[in-house]
Amino acid sequence: MEKILIVDDSLLQATQLKAIIDDEYDVTIAQTAEDGLRRASDEDFSLILLDVVMPEMDGFTLLKKLQEEIITQNVPVILITSLADVANEQHGLILGAVDYITKPYIPLIVKARVNTHIKLYQYRRQIEEQSMTDQLTGVANRRRYDRYSLTKWHEAARLHVPFSVCMFDIDHFKVYNDTFGHPAGDKVIAAIAKTISSHLKRSTDFVARYGGEEFVALSVGDSSEKMFEHLKRVRQAIEDLHIPHSPTVSEWVTVSIGGVTVIPEAGSAYDVYLKIADTMLYDAKKHGRNRVVWAGEQMKQMFEK
Ligand code: GH3
Ligand code: MG
Ligand code: MG
Repeated sequence: MEKILIVDDSLLQATQLKAIIDDEYDVTIAQTAEDGLRRASDEDFSLILLDVVMPEMDGFTLLKKLQEEIITQNVPVILITSLADVANEQHGLILGAVDYITKPYIPLIVKARVNTHIKLYQYRRQIEEQSMTDQLTGVANRRRYDRYSLTKWHEAARLHVPFSVCMFDIDHFKVYNDTFGHPAGDKVIAAIAKTISSHLKRSTDFVARYGGEEFVALSVGDSSEKMFEHLKRVRQAIEDLHIPHSPTVSEWVTVSIGGVTVIPEAGSAYDVYLKIADTMLYDAKKHGRNRVVWAGEQMKQMFEK
């Protein structure tokens, strides 16, 4: 059930409005703008119905504040006013409200407007989700990675916690495609994405398809030793899928992994560390593939095998 927040200082009117829509939606009432702002930031609402005239902070001011907060700025807001006042309506729409409803409520109109904006919001979320997801593997795509990596990097710098960047590249994958065909290659990419994700699924982990047969993972909180040990297990799990490779290169499909763990300094550049992870990956390839090479906090290199 989609969640709707009503912000109205009049409990009577808020309850009337709630009664019109609560057979289809999970409705919460906030009786002050402050409470509304707090709830909107703490919970996932799909629509906010906001009374314009309230004591202390009014609806317009709350609308502005909602739009300044990253968490709430995309939630559609319908303004409510007791007067069918053209000036207020204009002002609200200019500020970014998606629609207007007037008191006293006409239930069919309220329902129709609410349903329309809930549907539009669901549709937008679906499109956004699709635009951030890699179709073949279902993991995050490059676009989501680009946004996520910088946000997390700055967060780790602020909190002064270890941050790991890890690159994966399937070994001799061109030969695999040449031997078994591109559609079979696609299945391998999907299977490997699944294995990587299933090993990096904490809330502090993140996996994305970086490009063709390459993946990137980010992880916050663990030391380089822990990450190195963990990534060796991931590498082994991929080998243990026992996907036959072309006998000319190896028995099973494998990946090479390169990574780095640092405690980011404020102002240090993320790209430098991505480049280090890439260099570690290159070293893993150079030393024979199907192995993990990691750069620790003091840039000391760790080699598997
Ligand atoms: P290395 O061990 O050095 O990584 O060798 P490689 O053959 O994997 O490296 P290279 O970068 O030369 O080739 C990558 C190949 O991955 C080329 C391309 O055919 C294949 N590839 C890239 N994207 C896809 C994809 O989406 N589907 C399939 N099936 N193959 C892809
Ligand atoms: Mg490659
Ligand atoms: Mg490769």
